[in-house]
Amino acid sequence: MKPIRILTLAVSLAAAGSSFAQDRGTLTPRPLPPLANPDDPSVPAKELFGRRDGPAALPPRSIGGYARGCVAGAAAIPVDGDTWQVMRLSRNRNWGHPRLVDLLQRLAARVPQINGWPGLLVGDISQPRGGPMLTGHASHQVGLDADIWLTPMPSRRLTRAEREEMSATNMVREDRLDINPNTWTPQHTALIRAAAKERGVARIFVNPAIKKALCREAGEDRAWLTKVRPMWGHDYHFHIRIACPDAGCSDQDPPPNGDGCGAELSRWFTHDMLFPKPGKPRPPLTLAQLPAECRRVLVAP
Ligand SMILES: [Zn+2]
Repeated sequence: MKPIRILTLAVSLAAAGSSFAQDRGTLTPRPLPPLANPDDPSVPAKELFGRRDGPAALPPRSIGGYARGCVAGAAAIPVDGDTWQVMRLSRNRNWGHPRLVDLLQRLAARVPQINGWPGLLVGDISQPRGGPMLTGHASHQVGLDADIWLTPMPSRRLTRAEREEMSATNMVREDRLDINPNTWTPQHTALIRAAAKERGVARIFVNPAIKKALCREAGEDRAWLTKVRPMWGHDYHFHIRIACPDAGCSDQDPPPNGDGCGAELSRWFTHDMLFPKPGKPRPPLTLAQLPAECRRVLVAP
């Protein structure tokens, strides 16, 4: 991405509201009030998709692009597995394309061997029908993106309250220039390496400070670093993006060749990149700006 495009992205991420790992959920989520004019074409699509609490009963299909689309026939990752637990259940964002849900369960099952953690804490995937969200995330719209906490799963079941209120751990040093050596461990490197090596994973997003640590710690085996891309935020979690599994969605261009540890990484540590100036927020996407098929997904039983 060119710096301009990247800065525009930062601005739109900043404008997207917040709902990140460190933000708490609630044990008593209040249902959203019904919309006065849901058929008004100017209604933001997030207001429509944010009000669907179950998946579209259609064959699984990711439709559109990561930051402009929706998902049919999504599956929920169970809130508890032997080697994972879903966090912030009040958000109802543990839905994804079945391909992604499979991958997460497969990766979680290997975590004790990968780095000795009991398992993974799973953050936001997508809404039941994907689409834009009322808070957080420009992407996560097609059921192919998942956030994994950089905090190990404890070896006991977390209570519902803990899943809403427990804080994630910040891995980034206060000056933003490197990881915090008090929280970052070789286990983190092992986990991100294993996730990047999973077939089907197209990209992994981490904070630039974390990419810097991975570059330093990777050793000889560096091909996987290509998929690990620096991005604002991601201090507390990393983001797994899988490739488009069917004809309904569009992949991004593959990341540039190489480990991305040189000049490409250093420019993330300039003042303008570390502290991008907030710009004008972009108007929210409307249903008409999503692929036409998303209208069917929205209204399907
Ligand atoms: Zn994410």
